[in-house]
Amino acid sequence: MTIFEKIIAKEIPADILYEDDTCLCFQDIAPQAPTHLLVIPKEPIPRIAKATPEHQSLLGHLLLTAQQVAQQQDFAESGYRLVINNGKDGGEEVPHLHIHILAGRQLLWPPG
Ligand code: 5GP
Repeated sequence: MTIFEKIIAKEIPADILYEDDTCLCFQDIAPQAPTHLLVIPKEPIPRIAKATPEHQSLLGHLLLTAQQVAQQQDFAESGYRLVINNGKDGGEEVPHLHIHILAGRQLLWPPG
């Protein structure tokens, strides 16, 4: 069981901003920007590379949830970045699909 599954099960605490039947949005424990949130599906899909056409609607829901949280948290106007790290070279550490939402400062491109 990953740390994110423990957060979903409320076995370990997290600062949750949004939750519904299929996903959860909470604060990243080691923020890389003034705002750093994670949107995760409750279904334990390990990474985007493991998603299938059956997940199409769920994947869309994760993106729209990120958009809605950005509006609610008032950084939609100033801008934000959504990131999915996949595999070793992608920098993935937790093998449970998650979308990073980064905001609150000018983000650099290309990323490191
Ligand atoms: P990845 O590197 O896999 O794309 O991102 C994993 C993210 O999960 C990292 O940004 C890391 O800070 C965050 N994270 C790891 N463990 C915990 C935890 O126990 N609680 C929370 N809220 N975030 C975590």
